[in-house]
Amino acid sequence: MNPDECPMCDAGVIARYRVNATGESIQVCDECDSVWEETDELPGPATATVEQFLTVRGLPLLWSQLSALA
Ligand SMILES: [Zn+2]
Repeated sequence: MNPDECPMCDAGVIARYRVNATGESIQVCDECDSVWEETDELPGPATATVEQFLTVRGLPLLWSQLSALA
């Protein structure tokens, strides 16, 4: 299995993003918006979705809150 393939939806690709407001690095599926902590081992269950992740931190539900990391 491709390690970048999403174990939640089996369709998306997981990429790293930085949360602009907090400086946190996270891993996000581009298909189902699942979120993993930077240190989470994949494949494994996602800890949240992008929406949940931003809501918990009181941030707007916008992709512009995240910056793609190379
Ligand atoms: Zn996915």
